[in-house]
Amino acid sequence: MRLSTEPLDLPLASPFRIARSVQTHGRNVLLRLRADEHGDEYEGWGEAAPTAYYGESRETVEAALARFADVLSDDPFQHEDIMAEVGRLLGKNGAAKAALDMALYDLAGKRLGAPLYRLLGLNPARAPATSFTLGIDAPAEMARKAAAARDYPILKIKVGTPHDVEIVKAIREVTGATLRVDANAAWTAKQAIATINALAPYDIEFVEQPVAAGDLDGLRLVREHVSIPVIADESCVTLDDIARVAGRADGINIKLMKCGGVSHALKMIHAARAHNLSIMLGCMAAESSIAITAAAHLTPLVDYADLDGPLLLASDPYVGVRYEHGKLLLPDGPGLGVHSRQARSGADAPPIGK
Ligand code: MG
Repeated sequence: MRLSTEPLDLPLASPFRIARSVQTHGRNVLLRLRADEHGDEYEGWGEAAPTAYYGESRETVEAALARFADVLSDDPFQHEDIMAEVGRLLGKNGAAKAALDMALYDLAGKRLGAPLYRLLGLNPARAPATSFTLGIDAPAEMARKAAAARDYPILKIKVGTPHDVEIVKAIREVTGATLRVDANAAWTAKQAIATINALAPYDIEFVEQPVAAGDLDGLRLVREHVSIPVIADESCVTLDDIARVAGRADGINIKLMKCGGVSHALKMIHAARAHNLSIMLGCMAAESSIAITAAAHLTPLVDYADLDGPLLLASDPYVGVRYEHGKLLLPDGPGLGVHSRQARSGADAPPIGK
């Protein structure tokens, strides 16, 4: 197999603010993986959405993928061996691994003529609705955006400000949508307990990552003192974290860019079920339809989806998973089932099946 990368710049529709940072665009990486069989050439696509918080950048992804090129066999169906070798070669680099992992699935699916959800034995009708995320802003502005997002039945509200209760109250006044809240590790355990209990009257489905990633005792304390379920995101990155989080949170948020791809996410899903944890599949703020569609193929296995990446972009160069009132509609094409938007007009047609 031959591996090549190119920069994938993804401007966001508007600056996206969370408790610790604000983002205006994604400096992502597109991965192309090519293989020949019986004279036909097949091409699999992957995407890395690196974030500084998890120690990655476009440059670290490109360097990591250049090293992966040396360990690739010619057989994309040796998925477990390839990813195990990649794991031995490098530690963290979740986004770089995720790009390779989804490209392997895309390639294998195209060679078999089957969409990824079929390779995984999943029923696309079980894909849930995604939430639509509102970044931090003034309470009135967040309420205006919540009202404008009426096509989405689930809203995720970013908090971690001095006026979190005011934000949620303002949003609840303009919408009957299911509301989720994400503090992105901004609160102390004491602040979290007080704030979450103050949010209870506004009918919140769950609260994500109330305390610092490493504060597992705080996480447990919060869970024991609030009535709203608690989901661990920053505290749960890879498979190794599941047993540590179990008993301290009600559920976990799996992201391909944190854990290293679909194959690792599958292992996390089964481990989480064994620990009675509920499961959300989430994404980074700037991910195109390549990475989001890869994650969407797994959603028939999970309880909650937060896969709104393409909805937050100024424009998405790719077409894959679609949204119908928030419900994820998985594409039927082979592999990830993603094609480039301009291919619709015939130019630069992507390889379909080969
Ligand atoms: Mg989160």
